[in-house]
Amino acid sequence: MTEAKIIQKIKKKGYKITSQRRAIIEALLVPDRPPTAKDVLEIVRDKYPDVSLDTVYRNLNLLAEIGCVIKINLKNSETSRFEILKRHHHHHLICLGCGEAVCLEKCLLDMHADVLNNKGYKIVGHAFEIYGYCPSCYNAAEKSKEV
Ligand SMILES: [Zn+2]
Ligand SMILES: [Zn+2]
Ligand SMILES: [Zn+2]
Repeated sequence: MTEAKIIQKIKKKGYKITSQRRAIIEALLVPDRPPTAKDVLEIVRDKYPDVSLDTVYRNLNLLAEIGCVIKINLKNSETSRFEILKRHHHHHLICLGCGEAVCLEKCLLDMHADVLNNKGYKIVGHAFEIYGYCPSCYNAAEKSKEV
């Protein structure tokens, strides 16, 4: 999703485009891996020193709600990462060592959705994360055991 597309979507949903909101969207596009709210805050503060973490959180959650970013939930909500939706809906494996988020190809909801729908349940959202260690964190942990 490009910045222009996101702005379009925000307007469509009836929200205003403030300069701060625009700066937050731009900040999401900077890092090469999905940033945390604090990462975004640091980038935005270069231009807008008075922006609060609270404002950043509210905007990121709004972007997640309207489907412009994927919120990657870590066990501690402070370290949640926000990824601009670049392709189809997907989930992540999250490294508990370094916080790296690896994109997974398939969503596992489909196999459950039909069953639930048939029983009369209405699904409005879902979250799915796998926790583990990336190869380099895993190797480092194994090495320290050997010593
Ligand atoms: Zn790692
Ligand atoms: Zn992803
Ligand atoms: Zn899914």
